[in-house]
Amino acid sequence: MSAQNIQVAVRCRPLSDREKKSNSYCVIECNERRREVVAIDRNSSISSTKTFTFDKVFGMESKQIDVYNQVVRPVVKEVLEGYNCTIFAYGQTGTGKTFTMEGDYSQLNDSTWEDDPNVGIIPRSVSHLFTLLSSMPHCEYSVKISYMELYNEELTDLLGDSSLEKEEKLKIYDDPGRKGSVIVSKLEEVNVQNKNQVFKILQKGADRRQKASTLMNNQSSRSHSIFTITVFIKDRAIEGEEIIKVGKLNLVDLAGSENIERSGATGKRAAEAGKINKSLTTLGRVITALVQHSDHIPYRESNLTRLLQDSLGGRTKTTIIATVSPALCNLEETLSTLDYAHKAK
Ligand code: ADP
Ligand code: MG
Repeated sequence: MSAQNIQVAVRCRPLSDREKKSNSYCVIECNERRREVVAIDRNSSISSTKTFTFDKVFGMESKQIDVYNQVVRPVVKEVLEGYNCTIFAYGQTGTGKTFTMEGDYSQLNDSTWEDDPNVGIIPRSVSHLFTLLSSMPHCEYSVKISYMELYNEELTDLLGDSSLEKEEKLKIYDDPGRKGSVIVSKLEEVNVQNKNQVFKILQKGADRRQKASTLMNNQSSRSHSIFTITVFIKDRAIEGEEIIKVGKLNLVDLAGSENIERSGATGKRAAEAGKINKSLTTLGRVITALVQHSDHIPYRESNLTRLLQDSLGGRTKTTIIATVSPALCNLEETLSTLDYAHKAK
């Protein structure tokens, strides 16, 4: 994978009330201009700092729109050019993955959601895509979406209508017609006409994710959600010629990275976490293999990477947004997130 096909951004959220109350303080400094994150370890006997450089860095003051404009906006344009693109939110639970990807749907209103500053990447991308499509008069298009949750390698449809308790799990099969692609049986794929329709569906999906998490004893930190929007475009820009483009955007809110298997200095809890999240571990291996141009990319070793195989590697664009807490009490997890994100570059 060439440098421009994978980009890595880091976002640091503000200190939370809980962190303030427990007298934790900031040990992370972000320099957006130099694209650097500095971790300061004042706790050790000799104070030490560690500096990481990324493609983009967003500090505590950063706004949803900054992340959108600098990281996501160009990706949405690639989708309309027929690329398969994936954006991951990766990080410790409580650091802002869902805030960054979705925003808080419960705070958003049906009619004003587009102008709300708290809206996250998923609704912003939907809105932007429809705006771009409607400004292409020589094109016919159709858009379809799906929304799934992956927990313990089992796949649930977040758009399905049946009750979650008796819901059948979705099954993944290899697509006999397209090598490297899979078919998900019984998955709802909804044809959508406009952005408001998508927003309503998203609200419902988020609500369903919440319910699923309650049913599973609040283990949402161990599940991945995958929102996919596929765009079919028939372009008649050139007289007598028709160009068909199909682009796909996967927006993935990953399981908490504290569940990942680790090795080495940051891997003290590796053994117990090891079996918890196969998909998260395999994703790391797949990205490493892509970055190192390995002959074998272990897509098939987890359901997350099988599902995303046609959007990772080759003619695709991948973005990782790593989210971190600025607080001393989370420094160990923060350093491991920064290490992971840095390895993907
Ligand atoms: P995660 O999905 O990684 O577990 P959340 O997105 O649920 O984390 O964020 C945890 C809390 O922190 C939420 O209350 C959220 O609103 C808040 N938060 C996260 N990132 C930011 C940010 N950049 N600015 C303000 N609040 C944030
Ligand atoms: Mg979350």
